[in-house]
Amino acid sequence: MRYLSTRGTPDAPRLPFCDVLLAGLAPDGGLYVPESYPPLDLPRLRRVLAEEGYAAVAYEVLSLYVDDIPADDLRAICARAYTAEAFGDEAIVPVSELGNGLWLAHLSNGPTAAFKDLAMQLLGQLFEYELERRHETLTILGATSGDTGSAAEYAMLGKPSVRVFMLSPQGRMSAFQQAQMFSILDPHIVNIAVPGVFDDSQDLVKEVFSDPDFKQRYAIGAVNSINVARLLAQVVYYVVAWLRTTSRDDERVSFCVPSGNFGNICAGHIAREMGLPVERLVLATNENTVLHEFFSTGVYRVRASSETYETSSPSMDISKASNFERFAFDLLGRDQERVRDLFGVRLREAGELDLSGTPEFATIPGRYGFMSGASTHADRVRTIREVHDRYGVVIDPHTADGVTVAQGLLGAEPMVVLETALPVKFAPTIVEAIGVEPDRPARFEGLEDLPRRVMVLSGGVDELKAVIGASFRGSA
Ligand SMILES: *Cc1c(COP(=O)(O)O)cnc(C)c1O
Repeated sequence: MRYLSTRGTPDAPRLPFCDVLLAGLAPDGGLYVPESYPPLDLPRLRRVLAEEGYAAVAYEVLSLYVDDIPADDLRAICARAYTAEAFGDEAIVPVSELGNGLWLAHLSNGPTAAFKDLAMQLLGQLFEYELERRHETLTILGATSGDTGSAAEYAMLGKPSVRVFMLSPQGRMSAFQQAQMFSILDPHIVNIAVPGVFDDSQDLVKEVFSDPDFKQRYAIGAVNSINVARLLAQVVYYVVAWLRTTSRDDERVSFCVPSGNFGNICAGHIAREMGLPVERLVLATNENTVLHEFFSTGVYRVRASSETYETSSPSMDISKASNFERFAFDLLGRDQERVRDLFGVRLREAGELDLSGTPEFATIPGRYGFMSGASTHADRVRTIREVHDRYGVVIDPHTADGVTVAQGLLGAEPMVVLETALPVKFAPTIVEAIGVEPDRPARFEGLEDLPRRVMVLSGGVDELKAVIGASFRGSA
């Protein structure tokens, strides 16, 4: 299996998995995608899940895409990533039925209580393995508004070949999220609070990335959602959720996915292309409706950060969906030239692209199964209350966006909503909805009282570079 860029030229090299693992974005600005989607052997996967569990299914799925890591090593990597210890349950991703054809796939039982852990835990193991094999180290530089930063830090804990510098907007993350990140005291993990909003942190990261000498000198890399390994790790839980919802291999299921960067649901698209019997892929947004707008009109119009609403499902407050280009690539018949023109030129110049009226756009519901919907703060609060009253289950605000949209689109087949975070991360909205504090899993007891380490950076990109440089000299 080789990987190509969505914007590549016919002569651009196609790379093996481990090269794209460490590369992130392709040099032409495109995203790496696998050159084909191999078919799933459903009867075999059903047996493997029953007999060996989640990590073995992860190995089966990943081995279709990874041929430059020996099979035994890849199996061991999956086993280390998906442990009952890290995910609190042998099932790793349990599935439960609410009622009326509505199900929940619980993706948020990992170390940081958000679905990002499922991909990050694997990424941490893959990085450690590949860096040791190459005798290299990596410096991860990123910006987070909440869930990604802590998932990345917990995944890289205790891995000496990886250093992490994570920027976050000072005082803007939830109290729980701040406690979760800043209580990490590993000397290889540096939390940096930046005055301003998320974009101010993001801009600093981009400035460092635009300095090739500095980037090369400190081997700076990224862990954002465009990393192809994160995408492939996410395909696994669609397969497992489908297996746990069905008893026959021809049963069809729909998924409803709370979406921001289009990463989670893009993995659903890949699973469906591999032959998973998925009836519909329902995309749910909050008040930031860029993606819902595309699927209902054919116009993809990105928004400026000043036009992005701050909502009570903050991990979906995104106005430029970085993984969307991967779906567009398939939709446009994998025509790299057209993707290059649309995403590399027109979107950059005009801030939008228009596929309405094209034959490709008309095929989306039938050929790809996509539907979409949006919800508001009032919807979220009402849905959290209704799900609690009717089923005795407390869901987080992002999952509530999914349930709101799913309820309007129920069909004959089971509708599985992906639970993307635990309610404890967003307690104020839960209290607003049902008047009581959400349950706190034992591993988070006393989290807010732990000692913290975070530095405040107000000196711009020069200070950031100095901090990174000094940390290397300190340990040399
Ligand atoms: C990241 C995140 C999302 C959005 O997922 P995408 O892959 O960006 O579409 C939804 N909910 C939660 C809790 C998240 O952390």
